[in-house]
Amino acid sequence: MHYDFSSEVHSGLARRRIVKLVPKLALALSVGVFAVVSALTAWRVHDEIELFDQAARWDQQIIGVTAAAALSKSRSHQLAVQLVERVNESRNGVTIRYVSFASDAATEIRPLLSLAASELPAKGGWRQFITPSTAGARGRSLVTYVASPVVDDERGAIELSQPLVSRAEYAWKGVWSALASSLAMLVVGGLTMAFIGVRIVGRPVAELTAAARRIGEGDFNVLDSIRRTDEFGELARALRAMSVELSDERSRSRLETEARIEALEQLRHAERLTTLGQMASVLAHEVGTPLNVIAGHAKLVSGGKVDAEGAREGVLAIGVQCERIANIVRRVLDYARRRPPKRTWVDGADIVGQTHALLRSLARQKAVELTFEKPARGVELFADPDQMQQALINVVMNAVHASPRSATVLLRIERVQRLMHGEARDLVAFIVRDDGPGIEQEIVGRIFDPFFTTKPPGEGTGLGLSVARDIVREHDGFIEVTSREQEGTLFSIYLPRRSDDGGASTRS
Ligand code: ADP
Repeated sequence: MHYDFSSEVHSGLARRRIVKLVPKLALALSVGVFAVVSALTAWRVHDEIELFDQAARWDQQIIGVTAAAALSKSRSHQLAVQLVERVNESRNGVTIRYVSFASDAATEIRPLLSLAASELPAKGGWRQFITPSTAGARGRSLVTYVASPVVDDERGAIELSQPLVSRAEYAWKGVWSALASSLAMLVVGGLTMAFIGVRIVGRPVAELTAAARRIGEGDFNVLDSIRRTDEFGELARALRAMSVELSDERSRSRLETEARIEALEQLRHAERLTTLGQMASVLAHEVGTPLNVIAGHAKLVSGGKVDAEGAREGVLAIGVQCERIANIVRRVLDYARRRPPKRTWVDGADIVGQTHALLRSLARQKAVELTFEKPARGVELFADPDQMQQALINVVMNAVHASPRSATVLLRIERVQRLMHGEARDLVAFIVRDDGPGIEQEIVGRIFDPFFTTKPPGEGTGLGLSVARDIVREHDGFIEVTSREQEGTLFSIYLPRRSDDGGASTRS
């Protein structure tokens, strides 16, 4: 299948995200650039100031020494002053004067700096000083004195002064230039990245996002059209490989599921056949005996070998046996034709109360007392009341059957908290307790099997507990049995208060 990415509605969204990324990247880039440019500028500024200062020193030294050499033959300091003034006019930036360190020197030839005797330049030598920045002056100055004695002034000297560059000013200039170049880079870089981001990154990312989404939806052929050779192409190929694997995995698991379902069906079929076989043998056994009785009586009556009274008894016996057969057939049909539960919100106490009312007189016929105390508070639960009553009747009837004369069968309903799948759950417990002989340990695991009964022929079909268990399971509940031989049996039916509160039973 060929998929047209340009029509993907999500691509716009992905592109917008990319566009949001671009300013972030541009900002990060310009901060980096600004840091690098600032560091480089600071280093360059420092070097340049050093070079500039050095050049100024050399300049002043050379000019001073040359001028001093030219003045060495001067007869008077006036002449020296004139000569130096001429030199001064030819120099830009450096102020050159003839000065005298003599104590009686005229004011106009007094030096800028008043030096101690030890600081004075030696004959033929020179000394340089840097005046610190003061409030009046704009910054530091370089002052050079070259000894230049003339005939009438032994302490004459040439003074060269020049303001040095303000380091702070120069450094700020550097910072501003770094800022300006960073800003220019930000603008140019931002525009370039916006272009690159949208054209080169945004589109492929949008395509890949759309493709990943389609893969998630089960369409595994979406990446066939991507032919890029860059990293996105690589990513697309990796995604394609993943989607192929996913697709294979999906078909494998579909096949496995189909195979499992088929196996399950076969198992169910086998189970149905087994149940059918059991049902047939029970029916043959259960129905066979009354049929023999019926046949016997019918033969006697039809043979005319009995008197009228005997015939009446025979027909009565036939009627009883027919009822027995009808009863068996009805219970088997009940088992076979069970419908799914129709759940509503009901009060569990009502279900127990109705069961109690229904079976109380039947129990009394067996001299068994059936007791039930309705709880003060309703016990609401989401269940099919008819089916739950059916399950309860089956359990209660067994308890009544098992009870000795004058015994009591106790019915109770209560809310309980029980662990289900490792979590504490709110459950409703229907409890039926009798003082009968209990259930032997060897058969307790089989009492829920269909057609398992210990009752004599004609009294039990072995379907009661099986039906009860199935009903409870369909309500997502479970049944627990606690029994002690000669002490009695306790059946507890647990149901979740809502069907989604619980899970399948781990008990029965
Ligand atoms: P049936 O009642 O037709 O035998 P059930 O499925 O209802 O079938 O019960 C299966 C068997 O479980 C009974 O035959 C009996 O042996 C045993 N049983 C059930 N409830 C009790 C009980 N309260 N006390 C002793 N045995 C019981």
